[in-house]
This record gives sequence, C-alpha cells and structure tokens, in this order.
Amino acid sequence: MTGTVTVVKHPLVQHKLTLMRRKDVSTASFRRLMREIGTLLGYEVTRDLPLETVHIETPLVAMDAPILDSKKLCLVPILRAGLGLLDGMLELVPSARVGHVGLYRDPDTLEPVQYYLKLPQDLASRFVVVIDPMLATGNSAAAAVTRIKEAGAVSIKVVCLLAAPEGLARFQREHPDVDVLTASVESHLNDHGYIVPGLGDAGDRLYGTK
Ligand code: URA
Repeated sequence: MTGTVTVVKHPLVQHKLTLMRRKDVSTASFRRLMREIGTLLGYEVTRDLPLETVHIETPLVAMDAPILDSKKLCLVPILRAGLGLLDGMLELVPSARVGHVGLYRDPDTLEPVQYYLKLPQDLASRFVVVIDPMLATGNSAAAAVTRIKEAGAVSIKVVCLLAAPEGLARFQREHPDVDVLTASVESHLNDHGYIVPGLGDAGDRLYGTK
C-alpha cells in the first residue's frame, strides 16, 4: 500500500503559487498569498470529512441537514513555515483544534531536530492534517507524522505547497498509509536540500528574516 499524492491544479492555486515563487515579491504579498493558498488547500483536504445530520428549522419548514463536526479536525503546522498556511485553513474550519510541532533542519545533516511538541488529546478520534509547506527531503514531515502517530492518531493527511520527488519517495517509504496533497511536485532537490525550482526558504520569505 502507498498513500496517494494529489496535486491541486486549481487555476487559483497555480496562479498564486507563481506569484509567490517570484524572487522579488514582498514579504507582505508572500504572506497573504500563502494564507490564501492555505484556504484553497484546506478546501481540498477537507473534501472527505464525514458529515452528520442535525434537525433544524428554516424560515419555511423543519428539515434534517448535514453538518460538520469540525472539533474532530486537528491541524498541525510544522513550525515555523507551516503557520503561513494555517490561518487560511482556519478561516474554513474555525473550531478545528491546532497542535504544533517544532522541528528545524540541522544545516549539516539535513536531519530534523524536534524542539517543541504540543498536541490535543484524543488524537485517535480526530482527522489530523499535518501542514508542511516545503516537503523537501521529507525528513521533517516523516518525523512529525511519527510523533503524531505515537500520540495516537490513525487518520492523517499531509498538506504541502511544494514537494520534491525525493522527499515524497522518502515520506511514502516511512508512512505508506498517509496521503499527501500538494500544489506542485517539483523537479529535484539541490545539494543544500532546497527544492528546485521552488521558492527559496519559505520561513524566511514568510517572516522577512533574510
Ligand atoms: N525548506 C524551504 O523553506 N525551502 C526549500 O526549498 C526546502 C526546505
């Protein structure tokens, strides 16, 4: 079994992604575009959420109508770039729970080092969306999903903006049960672990730290 990789080809996503990739886009525009793409990817990743039925009254009649239990959803951004997609997703599902995984890449080994982990309880009964904008080596996403599974989660998807083929292969080897949704599968990783053509360092561009 291997998880599916869904590339979201919606014209709005692709258009906004192109604007973000440009090296001279301002920090403010980059941040806004990332939030907007977060909403669009959030729409896609929640496509299969289960609905329940509630009895309501419209101004005309009573009816049974479908409703989402968004408390059953848990969004987990990987710090810090994952925060850039989070707010856009929360606009769609404001009562979703939010966990945080803090990981940074050791610049020499490119291995993830965890410095923070805070997850809601009862993850076993929640659909968990892990947000990792740049699935480069796949190490961070794989490590985050391992921690989230250790905390009890069984239903998990990963959302990223860009994915490198190498990172996808590595991630799927370790977590063949987890589907990935991305706006683009890119050409390759360079020697420094950056995605090519990519958009550079997503965290630095989001927060203007370089
Ligand atoms: N992280 C980034 O922010 N960009 C890359 O290209 C790879 C990892």
